[in-house]
Amino acid sequence: MIKRVLGTTFIDIHTHSVKTDNNLIQIVNLDLNQPCPEQGYYSYGIHPWALDDADFQAKKALQTLEEKLKLPQVLALGEAGLDKMHKASFKQQIELFERQIELSEALQKPMILHDVRSHNEIIALRKKHKAQQPWIVHGFSGTEQDIKQLIGQGIYLSVGESLLHPERKIYKSFKFIDLDYLFLETDMAEIGVETVYEAAANMLEMDLSVLQTRIFANFARLFNL
Ligand SMILES: [Zn+2]
Repeated sequence: MIKRVLGTTFIDIHTHSVKTDNNLIQIVNLDLNQPCPEQGYYSYGIHPWALDDADFQAKKALQTLEEKLKLPQVLALGEAGLDKMHKASFKQQIELFERQIELSEALQKPMILHDVRSHNEIIALRKKHKAQQPWIVHGFSGTEQDIKQLIGQGIYLSVGESLLHPERKIYKSFKFIDLDYLFLETDMAEIGVETVYEAAANMLEMDLSVLQTRIFANFARLFNL
């Protein structure tokens, strides 16, 4: 049970750097070869780009991943997913992603997804596996149409620093994201998640504390905390 005051807590659903702040909850993404600290919340997954590495052994990586996912402080499997713009074979990416869908379902850990131009395949695989675990597409920057398509399948969306750039298409489409399906993140950006929250609250013409309460509720619901 997390004892935090509603309306003052920021949640960074996907980041690669640990920050210590009483008002901040993060899911820190670690590499499979990194040990998991006892304190805090983490995610481990096999990124589709891992397939680039000539020494990559899927079976071994999946075994390590399974061990990591059994830790209670590892809240989610991620990043995993599909990337159509990347050179790794798409067929191999799908295979690796499907094994991770199976792990997510077996161990009941939600997934944080890397989705580059692969919404259709991701949705098809969610249906094929009859996946029940929540999925969050991180670094989302799509159109109103993409939002409808993904949320229509019960997939959550996490938006990051692209919200700070008025020229990006997410700037126009952001208001179409149902707040019950929204998360915010910093990913690799060297900014605080508060900056992303403030931009989001401004765009939605909403009090920051209301936005914090809504996203906190999503977090508590997804991770049973
Ligand atoms: Zn990331």
